[in-house]
Amino acid sequence: MAIRKKLTILGSGSAGLTAAIYAARANLEPLVVQGLQAGGQLTITTDVENFPGFPEGIQGPELMEQLHKQAERFGTQFIYDNAESVDLSRRPFVVRTSAEEILTDTLLICTGASAKLLGLESESKLMGHGVSACATCDGFFFKDKVVFVVGGGDTALEEAMFLTRFATSVTVVHRRDQFRASAIMVERAKKNEKVKFILDTVVEDIENVEKGEVTGIKLRNLKTKEVTLHAADGVFVAIGHKPNTELFRDQIELTENGYIVTNGVKTSVHGVFAAGDVQDELYRQAITAAGTGCAAALEAQWLLESEEGGQSEAGKSEATVKQVAMRQSG
Ligand code: NDP
Repeated sequence: MAIRKKLTILGSGSAGLTAAIYAARANLEPLVVQGLQAGGQLTITTDVENFPGFPEGIQGPELMEQLHKQAERFGTQFIYDNAESVDLSRRPFVVRTSAEEILTDTLLICTGASAKLLGLESESKLMGHGVSACATCDGFFFKDKVVFVVGGGDTALEEAMFLTRFATSVTVVHRRDQFRASAIMVERAKKNEKVKFILDTVVEDIENVEKGEVTGIKLRNLKTKEVTLHAADGVFVAIGHKPNTELFRDQIELTENGYIVTNGVKTSVHGVFAAGDVQDELYRQAITAAGTGCAAALEAQWLLESEEGGQSEAGKSEATVKQVAMRQSG
């Protein structure tokens, strides 16, 4: 039999779990379909130093565990599975997992974003055999090894510095001579003696597919066109992320990069809200995801309340909106 819910949340990163805390405290008994990477991207990071409230920083997985407990405390239900399909053509919306069918009056999409890859055949063949998209997950396996990190953003530099805990040498390969990463990260990485840089350079190939392990990385300098082969034990790809919106394609408006188009947190489908990295191409921070998760839960709550009260959403007075918000924050 189908599960019937007023509010269902897809995803359990900081957006999804913050939405769950708010919705649960509003007695909406939210259901969170966690996804297979429960806890989202912060579970594969180490130190989080910029989430307000933690002056000494906090480990990503610990932060997510705390948010999960907080959501659970107020009655959130969790399903430890991926959503396999959704039908957003009419309400109640339908969400299917491998084992359940969920009918829900409102849906909060907080499915986040996933790591982008270079697209090389050798990269996919050697993934998990020396190629990785997550230093936090796999760094430990590269004790006393020579590794390369591809990318020039905060993730690449953060991963490079993390990998210096294990590897003997960490080389950052970036396609330009200017970094996308914040100045403080660039400064820290440059100060780290174990971190080297190869700039204006792309990865041409990763060796050795025949052996089933990484033995080298072939690099092409974009300015000189010179191709060089370097001995390597590991290659970490850290070139950004793509939004997890495949499920919603053709059902909801997406940007050309595949992010969900939102007005605030409202999507093109009435009753469907989106929060976090799945709709945020610009800020992509845990705290902004949490903020939009809160907003999405409040919007869903107001919509449900206006419908239960027979009041159209548009007809709801500003005073009511403020009252509800004040009640929630108390
Ligand atoms: P970004 O999009 O910021 O950076 C991606 C990097 O990869 C860029 O340098 C880009 O090059 C390069 N790149 C992209 N595609 C390719 C390709 N096909 N081949 C080679 N290089 C490529 O992603 P990040 O994951 O680094 O960061 C995402 C967001 O998360 C940012 O807002 C960042 O600030 C934030 N973040 C914050 C952290 C913190 O504060 N502790 C830690 C990690 C991330 P180019 O520059 O030429 O486009």
